[in-house]
Amino acid sequence: MKVVYADNNATTAIAPEVVEAMQPYFTSEYFNPSSMYEAARSPAKAIEKAREIVARCLGGVAPEEVLFTGSATESNNTALFGTVQANPQRRHIISTSVEHPSVLEVCRELERRGHEVTFLPVDRQGNLLLDDYIHALRRDTLMVSIMLANNETGVIYPVAELARIAKETSPDIVIHTDATQAIGKLAVDLKKTLRQVDLLSFSGHKIHAPKGVGALFVRRGTRWRPFMIGGHQEKGRRAGTENVPYIVGLARACELAVDTVQDEQTRVRAMRDRLQQALEERVAAIEVNGKEADRLPNTLNLAIHGIEGEAILYELSRSGICASSGSACTSGSLDPSHVLKAMQVPFTAIHGSLRISLSRYNDDEDVDRIIEVLPEIIASLRKISPYWDNERNILKI
Ligand code: PMP
Repeated sequence: MKVVYADNNATTAIAPEVVEAMQPYFTSEYFNPSSMYEAARSPAKAIEKAREIVARCLGGVAPEEVLFTGSATESNNTALFGTVQANPQRRHIISTSVEHPSVLEVCRELERRGHEVTFLPVDRQGNLLLDDYIHALRRDTLMVSIMLANNETGVIYPVAELARIAKETSPDIVIHTDATQAIGKLAVDLKKTLRQVDLLSFSGHKIHAPKGVGALFVRRGTRWRPFMIGGHQEKGRRAGTENVPYIVGLARACELAVDTVQDEQTRVRAMRDRLQQALEERVAAIEVNGKEADRLPNTLNLAIHGIEGEAILYELSRSGICASSGSACTSGSLDPSHVLKAMQVPFTAIHGSLRISLSRYNDDEDVDRIIEVLPEIIASLRKISPYWDNERNILKI
């Protein structure tokens, strides 16, 4: 049975071009890039070339503004803790209630340590309310950390505008954005639209590079302190022997992301829209979470009334279809998604949430297969659901 992989916001297949670029650094070029002998110059040079490539892909920033890390989680931790440590006099942070746990939990930890955090709410579509943001901003705000796009719903946040408003309030406010789900799906340009963003995080495994490598952009002049302390790697800004093959792979994946972003915006979007429309036509009592919001082109998050997301996933998996019932980081827990809760998705639909996320490796056949299988699964689960009859009465269908 052909597997239909539709869980690309959880992780992505590694691109063959990325595997090829990494290969020599697993085999002949294994030397520690910090070693003094001639042989170690090749991996050391490969890291610097990768840094130049990533800097170019982010809109032509300076290579020394790019740090390699072990994940977006590490980049987010570094951005927040690093900013807090360098600026002890300011204690107010603004973030949102829909961030990834690697920002949300750091903010909660900072609250426990005496910082004041404003978690902005979102509306029913997942959008922030600009008035709430403007009200929350203070001249003594230390930083704003707001994601570029949400991993569960795909909702895009207007980070360029939010940064501009913050800098008007006080040019000292540090702006961080988690761009993990945006890279490769949207144009990300730190010289143009995002020129007021100071710190930007992303990860390899969401853009067809391996898991366990990430990057953090730190704009020159940002008041910031290193988070990983130890050796002198990355000019003392991120200790730990560099993962040369993965860094090379990340850079190759960034180049491919720039080349394919148009394909995401057109072909992948068309596939997602066709899937959305077909499911809306065939299945009663489903809602597209964030339907009216500006969304990533690859993401479809559905609230399916009257049944459990886990049961749908199990049945999809038996048909060879991989999807998700929320973010992969929170699956394994029975708590409903904090993102959908923040959007006030009704309790009866929150447990039936399903996230389908496509990539450039999906094709029309994959979409056809989901359209063929999913409505049947929903119908058969609803037949045996103790909640569905009740739901039908409430929804009058
Ligand atoms: N931020 C967002 C928006 C994400 O989707 C993820 C991955 N689920 C992360 C951060 C964490 O990335 P990593 O797995 O590289 O730590």
